[in-house]
Amino acid sequence: MTTRINAVPRAARADDVAVPFADCHITEEAQAAALRVLQSGWVTTGREVATFEAAFAMVVGAEHGVGVSSCTHGIELALRSLELPPGSLVLSSTMTFCGAVQAIIHAGHQPVLVDVDPKTGMPTPATVRTALREFGRPAALTVVHWAGDVADVPALAAAAEVPLDRVVVDAAHAVGTYTGSTPIGSGCAATCFSFYATKNLPLGEGGMITTDDPTRAEWLRRARLHGMTADAWRRYLPGGSWRYNVADAGIKANMTDIQAAMGRAQLAHLPSWQRRRAQIAARYDDQLDGLPGIRLPHRPAARDGKHAWHLYPIRLQLDGGIDRDEVIAALSERAIGTSVHFIPVHRLAYFSQAALIPSIGLLGADTLFDQLLSLPIYPRLTDDQVDAVCAALADIAHQGLTGKGTE
Ligand SMILES: *Cc1c(COP(=O)(O)O)cnc(C)c1O
Repeated sequence: MTTRINAVPRAARADDVAVPFADCHITEEAQAAALRVLQSGWVTTGREVATFEAAFAMVVGAEHGVGVSSCTHGIELALRSLELPPGSLVLSSTMTFCGAVQAIIHAGHQPVLVDVDPKTGMPTPATVRTALREFGRPAALTVVHWAGDVADVPALAAAAEVPLDRVVVDAAHAVGTYTGSTPIGSGCAATCFSFYATKNLPLGEGGMITTDDPTRAEWLRRARLHGMTADAWRRYLPGGSWRYNVADAGIKANMTDIQAAMGRAQLAHLPSWQRRRAQIAARYDDQLDGLPGIRLPHRPAARDGKHAWHLYPIRLQLDGGIDRDEVIAALSERAIGTSVHFIPVHRLAYFSQAALIPSIGLLGADTLFDQLLSLPIYPRLTDDQVDAVCAALADIAHQGLTGKGTE
């Protein structure tokens, strides 16, 4: 028999601690930086972008940074920079954001979706080899550091028989992720970061591609702005020439000076924000560990690297037929916001047609999807809010075991 949690809906009470799922903290310094740029007379791609690119590349240990309008456009541009034949096979995890796979299609290629290990939410050499056996060797590979956890990029590239200079890393969750003692940002063709409103370094919108290859950086810098040989800023400098040429099929995906100035201001807060994210994850760990039917997120062994804790995705395996969606509803009644990352890409209508999917299915991702629940995690989340989430989950988990409500 299926047990319903709180069969009588429970409205949020006045003493409930409200816990929104996400928070976009644009600091006062970032607000002031935006205003300064707005008043300067130059708001689009210029000096501020160049300064932020250098500062960000330094933080992630890369030689070059190229500011773009989004991580999605970053992935598309990075794939275009590989100069693969049109229609090439590009591997992607199915447990990722739909935009990351749209980017493969917009780059002119054929996405191949790879299954994940339900324990980590990420592909393994074995799931990569399954895709290769059916579809052949891909031309390139995208690797996502899901939730901010550490993906084993060299092992996945080796399984895909793709050299590291054909690997594009989706680091949308990985500002603050380390492999061993090295920050994510170098070592493959390109690494793409997101500054979307909910990400670890929020600007609202924006992205950055990092690479160690100066030729690739130069190509990306032109391709993000129509493929023009001289960017607008240089053309309007005193003595700058109005002439330009177009050598490639570029797109309009440049970063503005407003975003870049905000980004540099936000960057100063990143170390303390990352420390707070780790504290919150540890507080969740302490209170959730051992609760019936709740599994903590995977994390790397200390020698393997550092989790960025962009997400805190637990796995629910509750007894009594309580499913994930009922838990979401029960938390929502207590004014606690949650989310699910992600609906596997192969379960979205367009990609079930547009992507190649192994004929045996993507069972690891399907299994994981039904269990996934992302809890709130952001630097301004208070200890009281974390405790409220844990208390609510403990209540629900025990109801799940006994099949009885506590009210
Ligand atoms: C957010 C996200 C993106 C896209 O980032 P945008 O900057 O919004 O384009 C790509 N991949 C993953 C895994 C994401 O979570």
